[in-house]
Amino acid sequence: MIQKPKGTLDILPDEIPLWHKIEDTVRTITSKYGFSEIKFPTFEQSSLFKRGVGGTTDIVQKEMFTMDDRDGNELCLRPEGTACVVRSVIENGLFNEPMPLKLYYFTNFFRYEKPQAGRSREFYQFGIEMFGTEKASADATVISVADMLFKKLGVNARLNINSIGCPKCRPNYHAALIEYFSAHESELCDTCRERLKTNPLRILDCKSPICGALCDNAPKTVEHLCDECGEHFEDLKTSLEAMGIEYSVNPRIVRGLDYYTRTVFEFISDDIGAQSTVCGGGRYDGLVKELDGPELCGIGFGLGITRLVLAMKKNAEKQGTELPTRERPLIYIAPMGKTAETAAISLVHKLRTEQIAAECDITGRSLKAQMKYADKIGATYAVVLGDNEIENGICELKNLRNGEKRSISIEEIANIKE
Ligand code: ATP
Ligand code: MG
Repeated sequence: MIQKPKGTLDILPDEIPLWHKIEDTVRTITSKYGFSEIKFPTFEQSSLFKRGVGGTTDIVQKEMFTMDDRDGNELCLRPEGTACVVRSVIENGLFNEPMPLKLYYFTNFFRYEKPQAGRSREFYQFGIEMFGTEKASADATVISVADMLFKKLGVNARLNINSIGCPKCRPNYHAALIEYFSAHESELCDTCRERLKTNPLRILDCKSPICGALCDNAPKTVEHLCDECGEHFEDLKTSLEAMGIEYSVNPRIVRGLDYYTRTVFEFISDDIGAQSTVCGGGRYDGLVKELDGPELCGIGFGLGITRLVLAMKKNAEKQGTELPTRERPLIYIAPMGKTAETAAISLVHKLRTEQIAAECDITGRSLKAQMKYADKIGATYAVVLGDNEIENGICELKNLRNGEKRSISIEEIANIKE
C-alpha cells in the first residue's frame, strides 16, 4: 500500500467544516480590514529564501525542500510566505498602489523538519503583510487581525511582544550579547556556540533548557534600543492598549527569520503542547530593498492553521461546546419503482436549485436500506415516493428526529424550510 510522504497531512471530510469556519472567519475579518488576497507560486527560486529569509536561519540551513529543474535552476517549495509576497510586490509593481498596501494569503508551506504534534513537513498558514507605513499603529493593526481571529474563534492565545531594534541600535546589542554569551560559551549547546559567531540574536530563540536558563539573564533588546526604536515600541504598547489588546513584553522573542526589525511578536496557546506558538510575526523594514525592490517598509505575521485547529479542538473539549460538522440534508426522498425514481430526481433537483440540501436514492438500494442511509447521513425528514403517492400527489413526511408523520402534497415539499 502506498502511503503519504512522511510529515504530510490528509485533512479528512470530518475536519473540513472546522477549516471552512476558519477560512470564512479569515475572509470576513480581512475584508473588514481592507486586506486583499494574493496567491503566489508553490515553488520559487531557492535564492529568494536564501537572501530573503537569511542564510543563518533554520529554514535556509536545514528545512528547505529544494530541487533542480531540467535547466539546472535550483527551485524550492515555498517554506514561508513573506519572501514570496515581497517578491511578487516588487515584480508586479504593487508598490505603486496607494499605501498602506494590505495583502493576505491562506495556503500551504513546506519545511523539511522532524514531524511531531503541531509540526509537519507540509502545513498551512494564514498570513498578512502590510507595506508602506512605519508607524507603530500599523504594527498594532496587524497584531489586532490575529487577535481578532483568535477571539472570534474562541481560542485563548497570549500575545508576547518585543522590539529587536534597527540596524542603528542592533550592533550595540549584538556586542552586549556576544560579551555575555562568550563568558558562558562552554555551557551553550553546539548550535548556539555556532550562533555566537554567526547570529548571536538567535541564541535567545533556543529551545534547550540550559541555553534557556542562560538567556534569562542575558542583556535585553529593549534595554539597548535607540531613541527612535524605543519610542516606536512605546507607541506600539499605547496602540495595543487603546484597542484593549492584552500583551506581555517577552525579551526572548526574537523570531527565527533574519529580516525582522523593531517589532516582533508571537501568540502562544497553552492548550496545544510543546509547539505552542500559533502565530509569529514582525516588522521587516529592510526586506523589500534587500530583494532589489524600492525603499518600502513592511510588517506581517504567519499563523499556523494546524496548530489553530488543535487549539480549537482543545477549547471545545474544555468548554463542552460543539465543533462545526458537515451539513446534513434537510430531506431524503426514497423512491419505489422506475416512475418514482424519475419523480424523485426531479424533485431533489428542484430543492437543490432552491439551495435546500436534499438527497434521493441513486444507488438502487432497497427501501429499508434507504431509510437506514437517510438516518446515517442525518437527514431531518424522509419521504417515500411510490406509484400511489405520485398518482394522488400526496405523500407522508416523516420527521426522522422525533418520528412524527404528517401528510403533505408533493408540491409542498419544495416549501419545507426547517
Ligand atoms: P517554530 O518555532 O514552531 O519552528 P517558526 O518560528 O519556524 O516556528 P514561523 O516561520 O514564524 O514559525 O511560522 C509561523 C507559524 O506557522 C508558527 O507559529 C506555526 O504556527 C506555524 N508553523 C511553522 N512551522 C510549522 C510546521 N512545520 N508545522 C506546522 N505549523 C508550522
Ligand atoms: Mg521552525
